Amino acid sequence: MSELEALAERIGVCVDCPLSATRVRAVPGEGPERPDLMFIGEGPGFHEDQQGRPFVGPAGKYLEHLLASIGLSREQVFITNVVKCRPPGNRDPMPGEIEACRKHLDRQIELLNPKAIVTLGRFSMARYFPRETISRIHGRPRVVNGQKIIPMYHPAAALHQGTMRKYIEEDFLKLPEMVEEAAEPEEPPVQAPQPQQPRLFA
Ligand code: URA
Repeated sequence: MSELEALAERIGVCVDCPLSATRVRAVPGEGPERPDLMFIGEGPGFHEDQQGRPFVGPAGKYLEHLLASIGLSREQVFITNVVKCRPPGNRDPMPGEIEACRKHLDRQIELLNPKAIVTLGRFSMARYFPRETISRIHGRPRVVNGQKIIPMYHPAAALHQGTMRKYIEEDFLKLPEMVEEAAEPEEPPVQAPQPQQPRLFA
């Protein structure tokens, strides 16, 4: 069994947050072990919870359509979520749930080492750009800790709001080029202001 498969098994029995009590099945994610692209959504919905597979409902159908627009199938990319278990009633995942699940996603990224990560929606975007808004940075690759991140709107949001549909479709068409080209340079870590040294001599 590969490390990725072993991790998926651990996720399947994880009880580190309250979502484990209400899930039908955990949804670790799926795709090749050496993908160029990794997609990170928000969390499983009804259909994903039933089947234990990511993006198999309406948002998934749309994601497949977007992938097809650039000649890719879902089997060619790795697809997962920020939280691996369904938040009841499809509510937003809570900070404690995201935090409890962080180790699983961190390890998946480490094992997969994709050329680029596409974040779908604001929860996965916030892992890398906590102070940004998606309307400002969607479709603009940036490097964070040596990893290329491409923020995009969530396909479900685009399904519900026509204007976003145009943006996500345009962003997807640019995706192959964004994966290959150099991203905007890594921003230096913000330096805390240095305390002023007391002046010993005038
Ligand atoms: N929305 C998500 O963010 N993830 C899924 O797996 C399905 C819908």
